[in-house]
Amino acid sequence: MTLSVAVVGAGPSGFYAADAMLKAFPGCEVDIIDRWPVPFGLVRYGVAPDHLSTKNVVKLYEKIFDKPGIRFLGNVEVGRDVSYEELKSFFDVVILACGMEYPKQFDIPGAELDGVVSVTDFVGWYNGVPESPDFFQLVSRARSAVIVGNGNVALDVARLLAKTKAELVPTDIVPMAADAISVAPLSDIYVVGRRGPLEANFSFPELSEFGNLRDAEPIVDPRSLPVDATSVAEKERKKKERNLRVLRTFSEKTAGDKSVKVHLLFFMSPVGILGEPEINAVKMVRNTLVDGKAVATKDTFMLDADLLVPAIGYQSAPITGVPTREGGSAMRHQDGRVEAGVYVVGWARRGPTGVIGTNRVDSREVVDRIVVDSPTAFRQGSVGLDNLLSSREVHVVAVADWRRINEAEMRGVVNGRPRTKFTTVVEMLKLLSG
Ligand code: NAP
Repeated sequence: MTLSVAVVGAGPSGFYAADAMLKAFPGCEVDIIDRWPVPFGLVRYGVAPDHLSTKNVVKLYEKIFDKPGIRFLGNVEVGRDVSYEELKSFFDVVILACGMEYPKQFDIPGAELDGVVSVTDFVGWYNGVPESPDFFQLVSRARSAVIVGNGNVALDVARLLAKTKAELVPTDIVPMAADAISVAPLSDIYVVGRRGPLEANFSFPELSEFGNLRDAEPIVDPRSLPVDATSVAEKERKKKERNLRVLRTFSEKTAGDKSVKVHLLFFMSPVGILGEPEINAVKMVRNTLVDGKAVATKDTFMLDADLLVPAIGYQSAPITGVPTREGGSAMRHQDGRVEAGVYVVGWARRGPTGVIGTNRVDSREVVDRIVVDSPTAFRQGSVGLDNLLSSREVHVVAVADWRRINEAEMRGVVNGRPRTKFTTVVEMLKLLSG
C-alpha cells in the first residue's frame, strides 16, 4: 500500500509540506484540500495586490501540482464537507496547513461602530476573497483613515489606500475596490504604532515604498525617532537601522503638495472610537515604553476618522474536533504534532509570523518529525474521501478545473491589469459547469 496524506490548506505551508512529503516518502499520495475552488491561500488572498513579484512564487507551486501523486481538491471544506474525524479515518497522515483566518481581537469602546473593519474583511475585500463584505460605500466616502499596527499588513493597507487610480492598474486588486479607492476623498491616513520605530515590524522595502507614491507622501515627526538603534539586540539591529534611516529621510522632508498624507505615528494607541452609528473620530493616548511594553500616559488627543482598520495580527479559526489550547483557538501541538497521525504547519503552527519562505523551513521541520514518527500505510486514502464527497454531492475542483478558472481570470484582463479575479464561488463553479 502507498502512504496516503491529506494536506488541509493550499497555501504556501501546504505546498511546501506536500512537496517535502513526496521527497521523504517516495510514492506517497498527497491530496491538497482547500475550501476555495482556487489554490495558493495567502499568496492569492493575503499578499498585497500590488506586490505581483511576490506572487511569482506560485509558479513553483504549479510545478508541485504536476508531480505524480499530487491531487488538488478545491471547494472542499473540512468541517463542512468532510469532518476532521472522517479525514483522519481515511488518511495515514493529515497535515493541517490552514493558516490563521481570524483577526486578533480588537476590543476598545466603539469597536463595533460602522466603519471599523477587521483586517481580514478589509484585505479580503480588495483581494477578492469570496463572500467578503463590500466596503465600496465606506471607502469611496472616506476622508481620513486610521490603521492600527506597525506590521507589514498595516503598511499594505495604508499603501493601497494611498495609491492613485493609475497606480492601481497594474495590480490584481478587485476592480470595485480600486474604483472605491480612486474616488475616495482621502487626505489623511494614520498608521499608528503603540510602540516605537525600533519595535515596529516593518520591512525595509515596504517602508521605503511610501517615499515613491505618486500622490501621497509620508509624514514622520522627527521627535518620535530615536537617535540610533544601539539599544536593539545585534541580530535585529541592521534591519532596524535601515528602517530608521528611511524614517529619518521621511521626517526631514517638508510636506509637499501631494493630496494624501500618510502619517506614521509612534508611541500611540487608540482608546475609544466615537460616532453614531458611524465612526467619525478616534480618541488616542500617548504611550511611554516601560521594559519594552507600551504604557499609556494621561496625554490624549483626537484624530478624525471615517475608517479604522486594526491590522494587529491574526488567530486560528477553530476546526471542530481539532484540539485547541486552553482558552484560545490556536491549535494544541508539540513541535508540529497535534495527535497520532496529525500534524500542523505554517501560521497555524507557529503563529502569524515570517515571510512566505519561512513556511518552507517550517514545513520541512514538521515533515522531518513525521519521518521520525514513521507512519505506516494502511488507510484507504483518496478512495474513501472521493466516495464520501461524491455521496454528499460536493463539487470538487481539480487541478485541471483550477487551470480553467485561471485562464478565464487572465482572459478577463483589461487595460494592463494582470488578472481579474472571480470573487464568488458560484461564478467559479458556473464557469466549470458551463
Ligand atoms: P505583525 O508583524 O505581528 O504586526 C502586528 C502589529 O500590531 C505590531 O506592530 C503589534 O505591536 C501591533 N499590535 C498587536 N496588538 C495590538 C494592540 N492590541 N493594539 C495596538 N497594536 C497592536 O503582523 P502583521 O502585520 O499582521 O503581519 C503578519 C506577518 O505577515 C508578519 O510576519 C509580516 O511580516 C508578514 N507579512 C509580510 C509582508 C511582506 O513581506 N511584504 C506583507 C504582509 C505581511 P507590538 O509589536 O507592540 O505587539
